[in-house]
Amino acid sequence: MSRLGCLCGNGMSNSTVPSDSIAEIYSRDDFEKAMAVKMELIDLWDENQEYWYCQKCKRITVIERKTGLYVSSYSRKVLDAPIQPEAIQNWQELLFWRDKEFYDAIEEKEHITVGDFLKLHPSRYLARVSPDKTTVHVFNPETQAYLFSYVLDPKPDFKEDE
Ligand SMILES: [Zn+2]
Repeated sequence: MSRLGCLCGNGMSNSTVPSDSIAEIYSRDDFEKAMAVKMELIDLWDENQEYWYCQKCKRITVIERKTGLYVSSYSRKVLDAPIQPEAIQNWQELLFWRDKEFYDAIEEKEHITVGDFLKLHPSRYLARVSPDKTTVHVFNPETQAYLFSYVLDPKPDFKEDE
């Protein structure tokens, strides 16, 4: 179990499993590669980074899975000028799920493949990340309507606590 402080001051914990504070984020490319070799869902978990979701400010904090150290964080913003999905079609697509969806899928079916999972739980968002990874724009996958963006936070100046 671990705890993480969001930049907004809110404390997050992953003591309940699955945790409401954890998001699963993958690139569509990685998912499709895993589908091609019929990889199991559980194999996808062996990643270097973990994504924490703050219930209070909706920020996503990226930490290194092994060390628990802060890598970066992204604030959620709604931009005044809506983005057209066609304008950023060359940006890499990201897929989002809640931690619970992953846990439930594995519990229901021990050897669930990545492809089966995607069929059962299509990503609720169409999200694309800029090539420099500073911005993610998120759309409704059905209507293509712009919903919100995630923008990279400036690197915080951490003061040691504990
Ligand atoms: Zn927060």
